[in-house]
Amino acid sequence: MTEDALARQLRALGVREGGVLLVHTSFRAVRPVEGGPLGLVRALRRALGPAGTLVMPTMTDGAAPFDPRTTPTHGMGITAELFWRLPGVLRSGHPGGSFAAEGPHAEAICAPQPLSPPHGPDSPVGRVHDLGGQVLLLGVGHSESTTLHLAEALAAVPYSVSHPTVVVEDGVPRTVMIAETDHCCRGFAAADAWLRARGQQREGKVGAADARLLSARDAVAAAVERLARDPLVFLCAPGAGCEECDVARASVPAPSRRGGWRRGRSSPVR
Ligand SMILES: [Zn+2]
Repeated sequence: MTEDALARQLRALGVREGGVLLVHTSFRAVRPVEGGPLGLVRALRRALGPAGTLVMPTMTDGAAPFDPRTTPTHGMGITAELFWRLPGVLRSGHPGGSFAAEGPHAEAICAPQPLSPPHGPDSPVGRVHDLGGQVLLLGVGHSESTTLHLAEALAAVPYSVSHPTVVVEDGVPRTVMIAETDHCCRGFAAADAWLRARGQQREGKVGAADARLLSARDAVAAAVERLARDPLVFLCAPGAGCEECDVARASVPAPSRRGGWRRGRSSPVR
C-alpha cells in the first residue's frame, strides 16, 4: 500500500482536511505499507493537509522520571513511538499520560495539565474534544480509545484507582499516587453499537486494517448519556472474573446517609 493510496482511503473514510485527528493504531493491523510506520504517519499528514493537526498517545508506565524528549512510550505501538521522535512534533508533559501532536493546534493540545485525571477536560484528549476533533481507531477498537475516559471524567463516575507514578518537582523525583478511572476497558466496545445506532461512526478499510472514524464530541455525548443512567456501564459484571474491573468496583464509595456519594477513597493528587 502506497502513502498516496492510504491518504485517499483516509479521506474517503471521512478524515477532515485541516481538522484535528487523534489516532490510536496498531501498525501490525495496517501493514504492509510503503515506508513502514513512518509511511503511515506521512499518509495521515497528507490526508489532514498543512492546516491539520495530528495527535497520538505516547503514554509511559510512570516507573521512572519522565522526560518528554527521551522517555519511550509504553504499549502505544511503533507508529506513536516513531511519531513523537520526529522533528516538529510536540509532546505533552504528563508523567504517565502524555500525547504527541504536530500542526497548528499542537501547542495548545500539549499545554501543561493537572496530574489527575490524566484524560479529563483539561488534558490533550479534552482539548481534542473542545477543538471538535475526530478520533481514528486504526486496527484497534474503542477499548484502546482514551476519549471514553474523558466521558467518564465528565460524567464523574464513582470509581477511581490510583497508580504510583514518578513525578519530578524542582529536579527531585518522588512517587505520587495518581487517581484515574482505570479498569480493563473492554466495556468501551459498547460504544460501537451506540454510535452505529446514531449513524455517527464511519467504518472501512485503511490498508489491511479495520478503521473506525468518529467525532470526539459524538462519542463523549453518547457515553455521558449512558453513564448518567448507569455510572458503572463500562465495568465488567461482578463475578465475571475481571480483576481490574473488580478493583474499580471496590473503589466505589457506599452511598452516604444523605443519599449522595461519599468522597472516593483515592482523592486526586495534584
Ligand atoms: Zn473488565
